[in-house]
Amino acid sequence: MSFLIIRYSEIALKGKNRHWFEKILVENIKKKLKEKISVDFTIERISGRIFLSITSLKNEEKEKINQILQNIFGITNFSWVEKASLDIENISYQCWKLIKRKRFNTFRITTQRSNKKFFLTSEKINQQVGAFIFQKIIEKGKKPQVRLKNPDLECFIEINDKNSFVYLQKIKGIKGLPVGSSGKALALLSGGIDSPVASYYALKRGVHTDYIHFHALPYTKPDSIQKVIQLAKILSKFQNQNKLFLFPLGKIQKYIAENSPEKFRLLLYRRLMHRITSQIAREKKYLALYTGESVGQVASQTLENLAVTNQASDLIMLRPLIGMDKEEIIKIAQKIGTYEISILPHEDLCSRFVPKHPATKAHLKTIQNIENKLNLQDLIQESLDKVEIKTFN
Ligand code: ATP
Ligand code: MG
Repeated sequence: MSFLIIRYSEIALKGKNRHWFEKILVENIKKKLKEKISVDFTIERISGRIFLSITSLKNEEKEKINQILQNIFGITNFSWVEKASLDIENISYQCWKLIKRKRFNTFRITTQRSNKKFFLTSEKINQQVGAFIFQKIIEKGKKPQVRLKNPDLECFIEINDKNSFVYLQKIKGIKGLPVGSSGKALALLSGGIDSPVASYYALKRGVHTDYIHFHALPYTKPDSIQKVIQLAKILSKFQNQNKLFLFPLGKIQKYIAENSPEKFRLLLYRRLMHRITSQIAREKKYLALYTGESVGQVASQTLENLAVTNQASDLIMLRPLIGMDKEEIIKIAQKIGTYEISILPHEDLCSRFVPKHPATKAHLKTIQNIENKLNLQDLIQESLDKVEIKTFN
């Protein structure tokens, strides 16, 4: 039997909602493990921790579990632990078993005791177990040293009501809030670097995120869609399941290109994407939209243009990257594994229909006047009927 202790912090602060957050986190862990590995396990909440007990675990599965847990929002850190009874001799022995093959000169014991009925204080446990280990090392003919600050090796002990646990390592999680605890949103996903990062920030705050991508097939090559499919798949590691809506915008783009002044076309496409996305979002009960826009990053993302685009949607439009520069965004894209896909060359929408010199400071009135002369309703409905939905786990 193998045991894991999973810790969370932010959600522990949420007062009355705490149980609800914990329940979602436990469910998320359970579903992901069931989906990705075939091991038998039980999961339970005890004194502000999540305990996972797994039967007959293979080494490669252990590594897989580490990777899964490192992508679940809400987890601060976790440890593979050895179980001991509520008995100081057994605890000392288990600690020794863990560290006897390790190379170190200095060490310390750190105890946390949620079971206040245990007959020794944390301080006393540290001393007694420390003395036991000290003796054992001397018997091996070495000279150990206890060091409280920056020791080579730290052995942790946790004592709760039923058992105690010992371990050497805390593996970092990605923190944030459990996905699903903050409602659901639709993110506009292009094949670029920014929108997957914006989606990561949605997920990090506990928002269940699905995606919509506008493509111009058959006016473009299928590569652009393949990229977005790969990106949605990578992002699915952060939640139990996500959906990708593929909206065919090509015909509409072609119509707009034939019936409007070149320099305003990009904004017209943008507004349309936002309008269509909010329509789908309303129907499917999404609470907000997300984009990867950041002020001034490209000529089309001026405050003036953002204001014009924003007006097209009546849902809240969240832009988590708004104050970030490209370097910071790239770092996150590399960390979450989307960067390598995002930099592959692709055609975002159809370059044939995209203006060479888009307007950088458009006026809402001008755009609205152009829109009033366009007859888009039937085309939009026709395209909506052709939306494809893909699901990823
Ligand atoms: P990205 O790297 O995310 O493509 P970008 O810097 O290239 O961003 P734009 O191409 O101007 O910026 O797009 C701004 C935002 O609009 C994107 O982050 C994305 O949220 C949305 N977007 C752009 N093109 C599409 C598309 N074809 N389908 C869905 N959303 C899109
Ligand atoms: Mg782009």
